[in-house]
Formats: sequence, C-alpha cells, structure tokens
Amino acid sequence: MRFTIAIDGPAAAGKGTISKAVAAHFGFAHLDTGLLYRAVGAKTLDGTDPIDAAGSLRAEDLEGFHLRTPEVAQAASKVAVIAEVRAALVDFQRAFARRAGGAVLDGRDIGTVICPSAEAKLFVTASAEVRAERRYLELADKGMDVSRAQVLADVKERDARDMDRAEAPLKPAEDAVVIDTSTMTIEEAVEMAVSAIKAARG
Ligand code: C5P
Repeated sequence: MRFTIAIDGPAAAGKGTISKAVAAHFGFAHLDTGLLYRAVGAKTLDGTDPIDAAGSLRAEDLEGFHLRTPEVAQAASKVAVIAEVRAALVDFQRAFARRAGGAVLDGRDIGTVICPSAEAKLFVTASAEVRAERRYLELADKGMDVSRAQVLADVKERDARDMDRAEAPLKPAEDAVVIDTSTMTIEEAVEMAVSAIKAARG
C-alpha cells in the first residue's frame, strides 16, 4: 500500500505535532523535511558551502538538539532559497513519500512541489502571534534565553523569506485542506486532520 500525506504550513503552526499524531494514527512513517534544511543550514554555520552540504547529507546529520535552535532555523530558511540545495533534497523526499506502508511528510512545499499527487494534503496554519507564543514557550521550556519579541520577529522574518522566495514558496496547494489552529487545542487540530485524511482515503 502506498499513500502519501503532505502536510505544509509556516513555522510553529502545529505541523510537527499533527504529523506525528497522524503518522501514529494511520501507522505510517513520518519525515520532518524541515530537518533536512536545518541540517544543511547547521553545516553552513561553520563555513561549509550550502550546495556541497546538501549534496553530502547523511542520516546522522539529521540528529541532535542543536538543529532545534533559532539560529539554525534562520540558517535553514536562508539555504532553502537556493535552487541547487532544494534540488539535491528532492529524490530522498520523493522516495520516502512512496515507501510501502504509507508516509507523512511535513514541510513547506510537499503538496505543491515534492508530492503534487499526494493522496491527502493539509495546510496547517495559525496567526503569527499565536505561533510565536507557542515557539517562545517551547524554547523557554528547553531553557533557552529568548524574549517573546525576538521570537515573534524571527517567526515573521522566516515567514517572509519562505513565502516570498522564487523557488517553491510556502503556499497551500489548490487542493489542500486548510486547518487554522489559532484557536484550537492540539486534540481538536489532530481530530480535524485525521478526518480530512479519512475522507481522502475514501
Ligand atoms: O519546519 P522547520 O521550521 O524545521 O523548517 C526550517 C526551514 O526550512 C523553513 O523555515 C524553510 O525555510 C525550510 N523548509 C523548506 N521546505 C521544506 C521544509 C523546510 O524550505 N519542505
């Protein structure tokens, strides 16, 4: 059985949580594609060329707490505008999407560019303020020294870079189900996602 679920949306909208819950619900494998860009971004921080970094990515590069820092998130969105970086990551993502047993991929361009024929597509979003507050609490919980104002500015800066880029800009696929999680609990958002996917499975 092959079934691809594409979940796109801006930073901290709830994509990751929803994707993990949906993957567990249907028993599918899950790929957080943001990690690929974060791993490439992290390598550029020590001077590595982003295109070389994308071309030589290994499984072990996708592990580690350092990939979750705001600095790496910004570096990721900077390398993500480079066409050659994106191109180097396409085959891996498409192969994952068509693996036997079903796959959930979350990112920015899964429903539009990587898997335009995905059987189910969701676009998970929320207001910038709500997303920044969630990200702030997450980072503060991990003991990181950040301010609310800085996290909001970071979220807005990354949104602008992700939406305005020429290559695979962040936008909902025409046939995506849009879920705005601004005023939803995690449980409500997951329930809505699961029912949208069930409807697509028929
Ligand atoms: O989802 P996450 O916040 O980990 O993504 C980090 C950055 O990687 C995003 O801001 C975006 O620029 C980039 N990205 C992308 N395409 C994807 C996933 C992430 O351009 N499919």
